Amino acid sequence: MPLPPLILKKNEDRRLRAGHLWVFSNEVDTVRTPLREFAPGDPVEIQAHNGRFIGSGYVNPNSLICARILSRDPRRAPDRSLLVHRLNIALSLRERLYAQPFYRLAFGESDGLPGLVVDRYGGVLVAQLTTAGMERLKADIVAALEQVTKPSAILLRNDAGVRELEGLPPYTETAYGSVPDGVVIEEHGARFQVSLNGGQKTGWFFDQHDNRARMLRYVSGRRVLDVFSYVGAWGISAAVHGAREVQCVDSSAAALAQLAGNAALNKVSVATREADAFDALRELREAGEKFDVVILDPPAFVKRKKDLAAGREAYRRLNQLGMQLLERDALLISCSCSHHMAAPELLDAIQAAARHLDRDAQLLETGGQAADHPVHPAIPETAYLKAFYLRVVTL
Ligand code: SAH
Repeated sequence: MPLPPLILKKNEDRRLRAGHLWVFSNEVDTVRTPLREFAPGDPVEIQAHNGRFIGSGYVNPNSLICARILSRDPRRAPDRSLLVHRLNIALSLRERLYAQPFYRLAFGESDGLPGLVVDRYGGVLVAQLTTAGMERLKADIVAALEQVTKPSAILLRNDAGVRELEGLPPYTETAYGSVPDGVVIEEHGARFQVSLNGGQKTGWFFDQHDNRARMLRYVSGRRVLDVFSYVGAWGISAAVHGAREVQCVDSSAAALAQLAGNAALNKVSVATREADAFDALRELREAGEKFDVVILDPPAFVKRKKDLAAGREAYRRLNQLGMQLLERDALLISCSCSHHMAAPELLDAIQAAARHLDRDAQLLETGGQAADHPVHPAIPETAYLKAFYLRVVTL
């Protein structure tokens, strides 16, 4: 049965033809295809002004991004077999990248699966459905994941904030099998107990995998401060790789309790401080504390474009505080996962902080998101993570 059409205004198909997958509500010819006649998640065929097929996908009349393309092939409708096909292609990349099945299996738009994120923890999959269209396909997604990866369990962590933009309620659900409370994952020679039900996002930040590896050669014998530590992915790895002393700061008591368990699991000792990061950094400064390596891995300060001015200022203040805790010749690892805070802007903020403190910064290395979070070249929003490794010294 043909899908109902969603017709675009004249010339509004250009970005889609260049590879983007999103339709904004102001691009739709609402005289011919009124958006209000669709229910959230309805499948549609997206057509150019002249009726030419652009792609099939799903619609959400209540969202600014009112449709997303799932298929550009008129013979391939957005159904279970398409999901199986896409997941197989996604899986083949990850199997080439990693010897062990611990990674982001599907990264939304970049894997041709807009609205779906799946992390793999051995036999357990943790999925996030972030759009009404994917919510509608839930049964097919679960079946496709079962078919492609033969998991022991599938957990839906459908409690991400972005669901609000789609009018979707937050919930967590075991969709298949029985989900263990936690799983142990190994990274760069350290082991971590990860809580899948109670952790943040899907439980672990796979996107920083390569950036954490980049840190390791700087930490041996050093005094390290891990700010926004979560369960200790950076700090505990630093300790395992010979850091002389490690302190971790996070505002979440639950994360720090897990961090303490992870330190014990690796037989290292790490001090924790439950506090707002800005307060903790100020207190450490007042106490005259100094570190050889300071890691700043904050949550996104700029979630939407309109928050850019305030967010930029928060990054500047944070980096300035971090820098004030550095020894005379030391390393600042400064990350941002805000797409809207572009890499050059973050570097500018860091440089401004360095000048303010009359110090010299040398950029040694730059990292992005790991390869299991591929960037879609036509969709800038898929590039979000930056990590700068700066030597801060006085020349
Ligand atoms: N570095 C971690 C990921 C950090 S996620 C890793 O690689 O796994 C961001 C962390 O910041 C979360 O653990 C959250 O609890 C913490 N956080 C958020 N706001 C904070 C604040 N104002 N002060 C301190 N920690 C905060």
